[in-house]
Amino acid sequence: EMCIRDSLTGLFNRSYHMRELATLLKANHHNKEPVAVIAIDIDHFKHVNDVHGHAFGDLALQVLASAVNTFSDEVKIISRTGGEEFEVVVDQLDEPAVLALADRIRLVISNVDLGENRHLTASLGIALSHVGEALVSLRQRADAAAYKAKNTGRNRVCAAD
Ligand code: GH3
Ligand code: MG
Ligand code: MG
Repeated sequence: EMCIRDSLTGLFNRSYHMRELATLLKANHHNKEPVAVIAIDIDHFKHVNDVHGHAFGDLALQVLASAVNTFSDEVKIISRTGGEEFEVVVDQLDEPAVLALADRIRLVISNVDLGENRHLTASLGIALSHVGEALVSLRQRADAAAYKAKNTGRNRVCAAD
């Protein structure tokens, strides 16, 4: 049980995430329903560590992960896939619905009070799988969309092309 969880946040870890996403994509290949990946990257997190210290950074990651995890009932997978990066997987939604869900996650993150009225934001990218699309390709497209969100001002959601 513990080896599927990230020790800092309690979310699923990267290796479990890859296995579960692969399984979901395989099932999707048969029923032709898209699987959506929402890539979440906390904004300016290096600066947060530099200004407030690594311990505060760790605490912020725990609190933000809990906030994202409040969506667990309406999604398939919520994981910490990297240092200040989370990924949410959902199916049975079309692109407008995934965009709306991602924007609700964005808003919840930005509303978290980390103490003394300190807030962080995140940039999010969404991608919906094409039939037969490889896991690597789907995640790359979600990451590229999050990168686009960074480059267009952060604290926003962008969709993959
Ligand atoms: P951007 O808005 O472009 O995403 O900037 P950023 O600073 O968030 O991105 P960058 O990738 O440059 O830095 C990520 C930082 O996250 C650097 C690293 O020290 C920090 N980080 C990663 N994992 C942890 C962790 O477990 N704890 C803490 N405190 N910091 C972490
Ligand atoms: Mg990052
Ligand atoms: Mg970041």
